[in-house]
Amino acid sequence: MKLENEDALDDLIICHHCYTLHEEVPIHDGSKACCSECGHVLYRYDSKLINHGLALSITGLIFFMLANTFPILKMDILGNEQFITIPKTIYSLFDNGFYIVGFLCLFLIFIFPLMIFLINMLLFILLKMKSGVKVTKELLVLLAHITPWSMADIFFISILVALVKLVSFGQMHIGIAFWALMIFVAIDIYITKNIHISEIWMLRKRILLQGDKNENKK
Ligand SMILES: [Zn+2]
Repeated sequence: MKLENEDALDDLIICHHCYTLHEEVPIHDGSKACCSECGHVLYRYDSKLINHGLALSITGLIFFMLANTFPILKMDILGNEQFITIPKTIYSLFDNGFYIVGFLCLFLIFIFPLMIFLINMLLFILLKMKSGVKVTKELLVLLAHITPWSMADIFFISILVALVKLVSFGQMHIGIAFWALMIFVAIDIYITKNIHISEIWMLRKRILLQGDKNENKK
């Protein structure tokens, strides 16, 4: 196959399962295209994804705020009451001179998860408004770079491990932020598993680029 220019690559899609190259064809809303060799799903087109994605990212952000505002745990050790919040945990790392760990925590459990949800929300709002051809491209590239670095789920598991270890030292009370963080992590995993970046690229192409072409034709 001979490619005339780089843009021609946009019309090709590779199967991530068997690496067969396919030409991308328009499909109906709500349907999916499968690989002719192995049957693996190549891409889907579901315009409802915009509303679902937007609702999920807004809900996720609300729970993220709650998780960062209220205490995760309340510890009662020898009559000494202590509240643990996410910002306080990060601050105490810096305060005790653990700068590298502090920076890692700040980015992996606070800045990156927050950015991912904000970018997702912005992307779905722009797609809904059918605008921002350039911005959506930049946002999608940025999203692909930072998604592997969001580790709120690992942080949540580490809290569970710490809970089990600390329970013998004194009385523990689980705070609102613990449940908020749990819901946030569940939404985060759901979005990562169900809304793939390639599907958002596809939606962008359908709504913003092909919409433009149609308008130019008129
Ligand atoms: Zn295949």
